[in-house]
Amino acid sequence: MQKGTIQVQTENIFPIIKKFLYSDHDIFLRELISNAVDASQKLKTLSSIGEAKGEFGDLIIEVKLDEEKKTITISDRGIGMTAAEVEKYLNQVAFSGAEEFVKKYKGQNENAIIGKFGLGFYSAFMVSDKVEVFTKSFKEEPAVRWECDGSPEYMLEETEKADRGTDIVLHINEESAEFLDAERIRGILNRFCRFLPVPIYFRHKEEKNEEEKEEVAPINNTQPAWKKKPADLTAEDYQNFYRELYPYNEPPLFWIHLNVDYPFNLTGILYFPKIKQSYEIQKDKIQLYSNQVFVTDEVKDIVPEFLMLLHGVIDSPDIPLNVSRSYLQGDPNVKKINNHITKKVADKLEELFNKERKEFEGKWDSLGLFVKYGMMTDDKFMERGNKFHLFETATNGGDGSEKKFYTLEEYRMATETLQKNKEGKLVILYTTDLVQQDAYIKGAEAKGYVVVKLDTIIDPSFINQMEMKWNEVHFNRVDADIADNLIDKQENQESVLSKDEETALKGLFDIKMPGLTMTVDVKGLSTEAPPVVATRPEFTRRMKDMASLSGPMGSFYANMPDEVTLTVNGNHPIYQQVLKNDDKDTQAKLVHNLADLALLSQGLLKGSNLTNFINRSVDLLGVGSQKSEVGSMK
Ligand code: ADP
Repeated sequence: MQKGTIQVQTENIFPIIKKFLYSDHDIFLRELISNAVDASQKLKTLSSIGEAKGEFGDLIIEVKLDEEKKTITISDRGIGMTAAEVEKYLNQVAFSGAEEFVKKYKGQNENAIIGKFGLGFYSAFMVSDKVEVFTKSFKEEPAVRWECDGSPEYMLEETEKADRGTDIVLHINEESAEFLDAERIRGILNRFCRFLPVPIYFRHKEEKNEEEKEEVAPINNTQPAWKKKPADLTAEDYQNFYRELYPYNEPPLFWIHLNVDYPFNLTGILYFPKIKQSYEIQKDKIQLYSNQVFVTDEVKDIVPEFLMLLHGVIDSPDIPLNVSRSYLQGDPNVKKINNHITKKVADKLEELFNKERKEFEGKWDSLGLFVKYGMMTDDKFMERGNKFHLFETATNGGDGSEKKFYTLEEYRMATETLQKNKEGKLVILYTTDLVQQDAYIKGAEAKGYVVVKLDTIIDPSFINQMEMKWNEVHFNRVDADIADNLIDKQENQESVLSKDEETALKGLFDIKMPGLTMTVDVKGLSTEAPPVVATRPEFTRRMKDMASLSGPMGSFYANMPDEVTLTVNGNHPIYQQVLKNDDKDTQAKLVHNLADLALLSQGLLKGSNLTNFINRSVDLLGVGSQKSEVGSMK
């Protein structure tokens, strides 16, 4: 038996390791299993070049949990270590690495360093009072046992061990008792080891059950789809793999298989999920692996922000293990990978658009979100996106045809004659609410305009940005003005009313209502147009919409009264009667009701204004009891 002192100048390395790595205790299992995988793979390599002789049997890895003895054992059948190798790898190399690490990174984000410096094995001490290593090399040397209790003193002796390979026995310390729970261990294995290339079995004794419960199937899939060649995979394989990753999700829309070996190494599959609600929070994330070892699902920087809602897996050994944000930003490969992913996604979208436009249109509900977000945040992507970004029309064509989809260029071509304003700008008419803005959509369509649907949560920002980025384009919501004025302000048309009548009517419509700022305009519209049309000026309405999205900062604007323009259609026959009415009270009530009806169609009649409207309508029908108005009415 040999005793010795681990070569380290620092008084005691373990408290430092424990403290530094405090936040991420469960990675000990990933580190030890990674070592076991390495040891197994090394044996395969050595055997393939003839350096290791004989049968090596099943190279499985076992994780055993013994709740009574308070131990976790990680066993492999890999290359093992000779006494000299234990000396070298566990006593010297790692510790010198540890020292360097401590000197260099004291006070920084040390989480990012583990693994890099050959510290993986020592993460065992984060959760253990004592660690024992039983190992037998493939080199036919006696097996050895190494033991260390977390002080710089270690113990090394010969021992009996039947099989080649290494058993690491962790005597779990009191603070880490949480790891003596089978479900906890299973959870960690499932997170970090799900796609490791060597079969891993988890075995544990049920707490009160004496009988050992054998796990029959390995916890991992050793050949995940992303590691295979795209040519060897069917659509079903891709879909099955998606289900393996996200069992409860609907099938994905399509996927992109990434496969790069130069100038960096990257494999992976990215899936475009079906997005039911554009505000859906991101619960399923892209997972980052390094040689099939799970690293993180925080893929910021690696994946462009607008693609964070994608699902799937990225595997790159060129991204440092134990990713921390600050570490990533300094890594030159990360920017390259990010650019590559953006390009691949644009390629795929363009290909789909060119080859299967109908299908692409059918998926636009979900795709639109990515494309728009990408165009807003990434100028390179915007150039690509201009080719396949689509506007969907608000309604079916009048001839019963299906809804149409236009690219910007196609929209321009289709509307050029009618929808250019005085300054030569293309005016894109849009609706945010098919139901509420129905009358306005119909009005615009009757004039031959093409109204598109922009009703998702990112559309308000998209509109603002594209007005700046696209040349000569202006967006107008379909209720921003009366149909005649949507493209350009028209000169006042002839009204059948005399000047005096117009002034009288304008006076009657001078109504005050809480929460609303109203401007009244008397115009001669067609006799078929409604008696009053309420419109909301594009600019102030947009300010309010944007403000209500932008949290507390925007509350000043969000709480401003709604600005409305009431366009009174002087040509509507009803005004002949209204103006003739001698009963001033009834006259005022009629006018007020007409205004209310217009506001109602804009969804702006609320609270006491709505109550007043109902009561007044009942009065006008002449059957209700006389109710007084709530609030003030002039
Ligand atoms: P790293 O894996 O980053 O090199 P570790 O501290 O995890 O650092 O391990 C140090 C060394 O100990 C490894 O490089 C390897 O040579 C040896 N080692 C650790 N675990 C095993 C094992 N299960 N089987 C064989 N060798 C091992």
